[in-house]
Amino acid sequence: MKGSKRNFKNAHILIVGSGIVGKFNALELSKKGFKITIADQQKKKNSSSAALGLLISNMYQKSKGRSWELRKKSNELWPKWIKFLKQYNNNLQIEKPLIQLTTKQENFEKLCKFFSHHPRRGLRVLEQDSTIIQSINTIFNMDNLKGIISNEDGRIDPLTLLKTLNIYLKEKKINFIKENIIKIKKIGNQWISTCSNKLEIKSDVIILCNSLDTLKLIDLNFHNIKLKPVLGQAIEISLNNEEINLLSLPKHFSIDGTNFIRTNKNKIIIGSTDEYDIKPKENTFEDLTHFLETKPQWLNKNNITDKWFGIRSRPEGEPSPILKSLEKGLILCTGFYKNGILLAPACSNWVSNEIENHLL
Ligand SMILES: Cc1cc2nc3c(=O)[nH]c(=O)nc-3n(C[C@H](O)[C@H](O)[C@H](O)COP(=O)(O)OP(=O)(O)OC[C@H]3O[C@@H](n4cnc5c(N)ncnc54)[C@H](O)[C@@H]3O)c2cc1C
Repeated sequence: MKGSKRNFKNAHILIVGSGIVGKFNALELSKKGFKITIADQQKKKNSSSAALGLLISNMYQKSKGRSWELRKKSNELWPKWIKFLKQYNNNLQIEKPLIQLTTKQENFEKLCKFFSHHPRRGLRVLEQDSTIIQSINTIFNMDNLKGIISNEDGRIDPLTLLKTLNIYLKEKKINFIKENIIKIKKIGNQWISTCSNKLEIKSDVIILCNSLDTLKLIDLNFHNIKLKPVLGQAIEISLNNEEINLLSLPKHFSIDGTNFIRTNKNKIIIGSTDEYDIKPKENTFEDLTHFLETKPQWLNKNNITDKWFGIRSRPEGEPSPILKSLEKGLILCTGFYKNGILLAPACSNWVSNEIENHLL
């Protein structure tokens, strides 16, 4: 017990990767009093800064299994973290509700069935004549939408979240090294990580939060970890039609799996695609709007004013994300595919508990 306390107090943890997952781990572990270093060259935009920030847990159509447990845990932790982080940025918030719509009767029946089996999830069925649906129908020239609304799910703006975490980590004087880690090795009980500028960092524990590039740092002869890239694109449409005011739409909703986030009266973000590649496809617009047989006049390619993508990592042969201790002092918190923003609190909570086994 005495030994473990000593280890805790002096332990140095290196977090590799400063996307949402790396930063959330730094937040959680800094509260435990560890000495923390984060390393990331941040040369390219990461997947966290490309994300839409939808936090779908109550609407998730499963009620058992690991994925549901992680969502449930994150759902429980988010309000606490928002309250805490608001001290560093008062603009941080989760904007509720979340609306899931479909044009297909079969999918709507499934949603209704799920809703009736889960009365405690805070969901409500939206019939075709509801005011919310009417407002979407008007803007999209549709008449066949139905769905559900979740008053407990919502959206966090990922860029505001990342900015807030940066403010916190800077204030707590968390050591940030703007270099990539190119090699890790263990000597005795210590880990030695080599940075791209040849600097060596000694630490007791390494947490790999570097998505696809996790594979470059572990010995794949010993560890059977497989990750594949899944690129996600999003576009922004800007309208110059004074007759259409997007403020009449709900802030965010999805139609047949495509997400819409209206940012002001004439801008709307549409995303995101699932492309098993590292180069973005050309026909994003068509992919994202295929559910519309006839597109309203404002929804056309000429109105695209911004376009971006992020590359997520999807584990092969095991579920996403990978939360695993590979050996003493080496923890993986990686392989976040679609819901890294949502799951960051639950996964860093897992790491925070797991790390105790590494420091005994
Ligand atoms: C278009 C789009 C929409 C999305 N929408 C949502 C959504 O609505 N809700 C949601 O929950 N999730 C969403 N996601 C998924 C979410 O963005 C990811 O699951 C999440 O960002 C993963 O975070 P991460 O920190 O693991 O990875 P990343 O953000 O990719 O960060 C990994 C970091 O590791 C660094 N790195 C790599 N190699 C090294 C190295 N050798 N040394 C040091 N650092 C290194 C990289 O520079 C990078 O900064 C979306 C993703 C995309 C692309």
